[in-house]
Amino acid sequence: MATDYDAPRKTDEDQSEDSLEELKARRHEKNSGKVDEDETEAAESFELPGADLSHEELAVQVVPRQNDEFTCSSCFLVHHRSQLASDKKGVLVCRDCDG
Ligand SMILES: [Zn+2]
Repeated sequence: MATDYDAPRKTDEDQSEDSLEELKARRHEKNSGKVDEDETEAAESFELPGADLSHEELAVQVVPRQNDEFTCSSCFLVHHRSQLASDKKGVLVCRDCDG
């Protein structure tokens, strides 16, 4: 009796069981996810040098701009910005040349 009642239902349940089984499978993956933890740990230890790289990128981004350097239009030497004496119409003159 129960079998008869179950039989037509099972087809119906089969479809929902599909997703259920998927969920179960996913849960099982997570539960047996000691491998996952290892992967996370590996990713974490991989992230550390990655963070360092981003730091380097930041530093590298600043350097090419040479924002704190200028070329004196009088002696044509590259000076630090702190040596900039005048900046008239884009004509940069260092303190040495600034009379
Ligand atoms: Zn100069």
